[in-house]
Amino acid sequence: MDASYDAIVLGGGPGGYVCAIRLAQLGVKVACVEEEEYGGVCLNWGCVPSKALISNAHLYEKAQSASDVGIDFGAAKLDVARMQRWKDGIVKKLTGGVRGLLKSNGAVVVEGRGRLLDAKRIEVVDSKGGKQTLTAERAIVVATGSATIQIPGFEFDGKRIIGAREAVSLDHVPKRLVVIGGGVIGLELGMVYQAFGSELTVVELTPSLLPGNDPDAIKLVEKRIQKHGGKVLKETKALGVEKKKDGLVVSVEQAGKTSKLDADVVLVSVGMKPRSRDIGLEALGVAIDPRGFVVTDDQCRTNVPGIYAIGDVSGPPMLAHKASKEGEVAAEVIAGKAAGKDWVTIPGIIFTDPEIAQVGPTHAALQQQGRDVSVGKFPFSALARAMSIRETDGFVKVVRDNATDRVLGITICGPSASDLISEAVLALELGATAEDLALSVHPHPTLGEAMMEAAAGALGHAVHMLNR
Ligand SMILES: Cc1cc2nc3c(=O)[nH]c(=O)nc-3n(C[C@H](O)[C@H](O)[C@H](O)COP(=O)(O)OP(=O)(O)OC[C@H]3O[C@@H](n4cnc5c(N)ncnc54)[C@H](O)[C@@H]3O)c2cc1C
Repeated sequence: MDASYDAIVLGGGPGGYVCAIRLAQLGVKVACVEEEEYGGVCLNWGCVPSKALISNAHLYEKAQSASDVGIDFGAAKLDVARMQRWKDGIVKKLTGGVRGLLKSNGAVVVEGRGRLLDAKRIEVVDSKGGKQTLTAERAIVVATGSATIQIPGFEFDGKRIIGAREAVSLDHVPKRLVVIGGGVIGLELGMVYQAFGSELTVVELTPSLLPGNDPDAIKLVEKRIQKHGGKVLKETKALGVEKKKDGLVVSVEQAGKTSKLDADVVLVSVGMKPRSRDIGLEALGVAIDPRGFVVTDDQCRTNVPGIYAIGDVSGPPMLAHKASKEGEVAAEVIAGKAAGKDWVTIPGIIFTDPEIAQVGPTHAALQQQGRDVSVGKFPFSALARAMSIRETDGFVKVVRDNATDRVLGITICGPSASDLISEAVLALELGATAEDLALSVHPHPTLGEAMMEAAAGALGHAVHMLNR
């Protein structure tokens, strides 16, 4: 049924659904169009399912070694089917919750694939081929997200040659898993299956895993993969894969030499690409950069009046919390409020083992820029709480500007880095100095003490480690 709204949001991921809810809260008549399931990549096959599996991998490893600390569970056994049902239950609860929130806030849910006909109209085709045209009097928000990049020679077959979408729903633990791409998603999922018993090989084209992240943190992750018997092949190009009855053979090239890797499953994880094509943007003259990202200003506006873009489709960092924040910004701008992308930092987290969390630039990046900085690095191995939970690998690094004492960047690598980083986010948002962090009394015994000690270390007076 054709209908008219003030605003239409195209895509119901963490960008789109948040935007639609906020618009409805602000009294804007809004519809949110989604062709698959509300919650987008994040809730359905990204952040949420992957983290559920990751937490199970930790539990499995802890259970296996619990006898070391005097608790004997016997041999830990994995029931993959039950684990997948449990994970699917979380996804269902959350996606159902999103639908409920949209409706109860007054946003209209429209199911189908949408395409812009012009700057005010979207045609929606549902799964049965039914068509309707929706009109947006004030604004259209493009929140179509991103899709897995595929590479030639590794065409997905859904079972043995797969992407992240299939990897979070495997019905078994592959004996030999080859991950093409040593970035965030490949390592997170690769390490899950390694913890469950897969022989893991990571093939990475560049000289480093997780390019751009703190080099000390990357080393720890690489060491962990190797400690569990995994292989990391850097500066290695994946050429192709041959399907055999009893497995796969992956051809790779390193320093001009070709070799073969045996595998049962190949996970291709070389990145995500924005879904900016085939939705009518080009015909309307909406600016799209060479990488496919829709170009926006600080208010999430595109160059075409009335068309906004948010989330993965509008550029990096391709993270759920960045998408949601932009959803709020766009909604408020459309509703006539003063809003903008004025954050100081978007935290980035890598849920490897150990976890890596970052706000602001890394120490290495600041050094490359020639900035006059000091760093305090406090190891978790010196912290009572880390010892008591048996997770002593890692550190907190606080980097301060020597002239102003302002904290410029914080890296946390280690236990609960993903939770601890929120203090660092607040520190950067409030323009805290290293002294502010060092003077704030942190409770004992906690992992958070590492932040206080690292800040004191950057000032040269940490108590529980030697100052350089
Ligand atoms: C395995 C994996 C793990 C991840 N883990 C994390 C993490 O831990 N933390 C984190 O912050 N980020 C993580 N991400 C990234 C995160 O999922 C994305 O940044 C986030 O989902 C982007 O939100 P979005 O709303 O921009 O787009 P999406 O989540 O991609 O949502 C876009 C929605 O639009 C719909 N859509 C697209 N085109 C149309 C159309 N024409 N008509 C109707 N509907 C359409 C799609 O079906 C989709 O539901 C992960 C990603 C993956 C793949």
